[in-house]
Amino acid sequence: MRTLFVAANWKMNKTVQQALTYVTEFRQHLGEITGIEVVIAPPFTAVHAVAGALLGTPVGVAGQDLYWEDQGAFTGEINAMMLKEAGASYVLIGHSERRQLFSESDDNVNVKVRAALDAQLTPILCVGESLDQRESNRTFEVLDRQLTKGLTSIPANQVGTLIVAYEPIWAIGTGLTATPPQAQEAHAHIRECLALLFTDDVASSTRIIYGGSVKLGNVADLLSQSDIDGALIGGASLDSAIFAEIVATSRTPTV
Ligand code: PEP
Repeated sequence: MRTLFVAANWKMNKTVQQALTYVTEFRQHLGEITGIEVVIAPPFTAVHAVAGALLGTPVGVAGQDLYWEDQGAFTGEINAMMLKEAGASYVLIGHSERRQLFSESDDNVNVKVRAALDAQLTPILCVGESLDQRESNRTFEVLDRQLTKGLTSIPANQVGTLIVAYEPIWAIGTGLTATPPQAQEAHAHIRECLALLFTDDVASSTRIIYGGSVKLGNVADLLSQSDIDGALIGGASLDSAIFAEIVATSRTPTV
């Protein structure tokens, strides 16, 4: 039984003050949170404040990235222990914006996943194909490569604890969403790939969430698919009332 997982990725949005206002409103809008894990990924500067403001709620906090070294001359970077100390329990790794805008390779992603797991932070490993790759029928090949390389040298018992986010690049921030069958097909493929790389148990226990223009109007349809275990939400999570409603709709999908 996989617990639903819904996460907000604020990307580079919200000052500490704006983040605190959001959390105050979000707590007011949020109904009962049972049977679902809810996580917010603020920018680094707001992780500590958001974690403090969410104390006493089951809502968790994620970093949006990390660097794999423990310390040293890596100007601008922060590591897993720093994120944990600031109050994060999760971390996004390999988001397509990092891969595309900051040239993050699959090998970088792999060391980041390992660093997160070593520090007992739950990685949310993002994978997904570009439009060009989808149109040239290379979606599965890209997913296989990202998973195989991203999860190299990670023991099966640790893989089952992480979350995979399938985020087709062409659907991120574009308003274009994968149709529920398109997303289901990719998720089922990811699960098969996990079974081949690890075990059937790992494949059936790993949560695979969908991201890419998820909003109130499409979340229930997407979550009704058997291999979609939650959602990673960018733009639509920036409004506290809308994100709270997405969480409520996810808990009780009507489709
Ligand atoms: C994301 O950034 O992970 C994302 C899915 O963004 P959006 O919901 O805006 O497409």
